Amino acid sequence: MTIKPLIILPDPVLRQVSKPLERVDDATRKFADDMLDTMYDAPGIGLAAIQIGEPLRMLVIDLAKEGEDKAPHVFINPQIVASGDDISVYEEGCLSIPDYYAEVERPETVTVTYLDRDGKAQEMVADGLMATCLQHEIDHLNGVLFIDHISKLKRDMVVRKFKKLAREKAPQRLVG
Ligand code: ZN
Repeated sequence: MTIKPLIILPDPVLRQVSKPLERVDDATRKFADDMLDTMYDAPGIGLAAIQIGEPLRMLVIDLAKEGEDKAPHVFINPQIVASGDDISVYEEGCLSIPDYYAEVERPETVTVTYLDRDGKAQEMVADGLMATCLQHEIDHLNGVLFIDHISKLKRDMVVRKFKKLAREKAPQRLVG
């Protein structure tokens, strides 16, 4: 079990476009387990590989509520192949933008193709929270954050706040 450090806004790594995996092997499965451990520890319901600094098209999701059995999903090279016309609104947050939440509109249903942790091709028709979560995480693979879906005014405010936090956390250099 390995919990990896999370990449936080405004780290430019979050804007990288991730690359597809060429194969799914034991190293991929070990990495998926690390992603799940990191997500459960945070805690969060979804995590993309880039959020722990690996620009790979891979994400994990577990929507089980507290007290329910774990329901981990691993999506490798996921692609949205269809989305419904109906829109749903969820208040979203992101492990890379801690303690900030905003309502985001997205298609209510999506069809996603992907490889599972055994490398088998799968297709999922998702709705509700799973559809929103998949779209949020697939955005990460393209360097897109949920704050890109809110107004520029709100986005500028949150980016400014995190830039300030990052400056305050930077090590002070003492020149004596
Ligand atoms: Zn996120």
